[in-house]
Amino acid sequence: MTNPSKIRQLERIVEISRHLSSTHDLARLLQAIVDVACELTKSEGASILLYDHASGELRFEAVPGFQEQNIKGVSVPLESSVAGWIFTHARPMVLQDAKADPRIYREVDRSIEFQTNSLLGVPLMIGQRPIGVIEAVNKQNKSQYTDDDLAVLETLAGQAAIAIENVRLLKKLQDANSELLRLDRMKSDFIAIASHELRTPLGLILGHATFLQELIGEEHNEQLEVIIRSAMRLKEIIEDMAVISHDAEGKSRVRREEFSISEMVRGLSEKYEKAAIKKGVELQLDVPENDGLSIFGDKEKIDLALTNLVENALTFTDEGGQVGVKAEKDDGYIKVSVVDTGIGIPAEEHERIFDRFYQVESHLTRKHGGMGLGLSIAKAMVELHNGQIWCESKEDMGSLFCFMLPVDEEKASAAARIFKTAEQ
Ligand code: ADP
Repeated sequence: MTNPSKIRQLERIVEISRHLSSTHDLARLLQAIVDVACELTKSEGASILLYDHASGELRFEAVPGFQEQNIKGVSVPLESSVAGWIFTHARPMVLQDAKADPRIYREVDRSIEFQTNSLLGVPLMIGQRPIGVIEAVNKQNKSQYTDDDLAVLETLAGQAAIAIENVRLLKKLQDANSELLRLDRMKSDFIAIASHELRTPLGLILGHATFLQELIGEEHNEQLEVIIRSAMRLKEIIEDMAVISHDAEGKSRVRREEFSISEMVRGLSEKYEKAAIKKGVELQLDVPENDGLSIFGDKEKIDLALTNLVENALTFTDEGGQVGVKAEKDDGYIKVSVVDTGIGIPAEEHERIFDRFYQVESHLTRKHGGMGLGLSIAKAMVELHNGQIWCESKEDMGSLFCFMLPVDEEKASAAARIFKTAEQ
C-alpha cells in the first residue's frame, strides 16, 4: 500500500514547484526553498549556498530566519567544508553523526553558537553543472535522516535549481534590456543635440564660403567649390539626423496637400540624369501618360523617401547597369518601385537594412559614403502616411525597393488602427 505521508510529501512538492516557478524575487525564492526543505525533511534548519564565481567560494544565501543576521552572506571554502565536497563532487552527503566529523567547517557553527548534529546535503544542479548546495541540518527528535529524506531533498533541489536559474536569467535579461534602453536614449540624445548644434556653425561656413566665392571670383574658385560641396554634404547628413531625431520623438508632422506622384517621378530625371550618365548607368522612368497619380500627403517627405531609394540604387549599381523607377495604381494604393541591376543585398540582411545606422558592409571598410540612415528615413516617411515599404533583392543580381501609399489615407489609417487593436 502506498504510504500516505509520502503522498502528502509529493503533493507538497508539486504545490511548491508551482509556487517556485512563479516567484521572480531571488531572496524570497531562496527563503521559500529553505523553509520547505526544513518542513519536508523534518529538520531544525536548512540553508542554501550558491557558488560565487568572483571569490570561488560557496556563500550562504538563505538560512532560517533566526540565523539570518549572523550567517547570511558568509562564505565557506570549497576544499574544507561539507558543502564544498557536495558541490565539487556533484553528489549528496548524509552525516548521521556530525558532532565530531572533521569534514564540517566549524567556523560557521562557532560564529552562530550552533551545534550541527546531523546533516543532509545535495547539490543544486543545472544539467551537469552545479550552481550551489542545499543542506538540511539536525533531524528533529534526534532521529536519523532516511533514504526518503534524501529522495525528497533531491527532488526539491531539482525544482529549486531550475527556479533559481530562471530568476537569474530573467534578472540578466532585465539588466541587459535596461542597459540597451539607456544606450538607446543616449544615442537619441546625441543625435538630437549634434544635429541641432552643428546647424548654426555650418550655416555660417556655407554663407561665408558663398560670399567669398562671389567676392574672389575665378582665382580660388576650385578650392571654394570644394568647401561649399563638402559643407552641402555635411548639411544633408545633419538634416538626415534631424529627421530621424524628430521621428523618434514623435515630432514629425505630416502636411496635407494634393500632389502628383507622376510629376515627382518625372522630376527625378532632372535631378539624377547627369549623375547617372557620369556613372554610365541607364536611368528609366515609367509613369502613366494620362494619370497624375494624385495623393494627399506631405510632398517633401515622400520626395525624401523616393530620392533616398533612387540615390541608393545609383550608388550600388556599377557602370553598364540600369536603374528604373515606376509608379502605378494598385488597388486603392499608389505603388512606387525602384529597381536596379546593382550589387544586391544578401537575404539575411533584408530585415535589418531599414534599421537606423545599419549598413550591410562594415562602415570602416565600405567604398560608399553614407551613415545608414537613408532607408530608415524612407521607411519612417512612408509609415507616417500609413504606407508600407519593403525590399526584394538577390546578391549580385540587383534590388527592388517598393513603397505603397494609400490614396484614401483616412480609410487606410482606420484599417491600420483596427489591425493594431487586433494585434494587441
Ligand atoms: P546608406 O546611406 O549608408 O547607404 P541606407 O539606410 O540608405 O544607408 O542603406 C542601408 C544599407 O542597405 C546600405 O549601406 C547598403 O548596404 C544597403 N542598400 C541600400 N540600398 C541598396 C541597393 N539599392 N542595392 C544594394 N544595397 C543597398
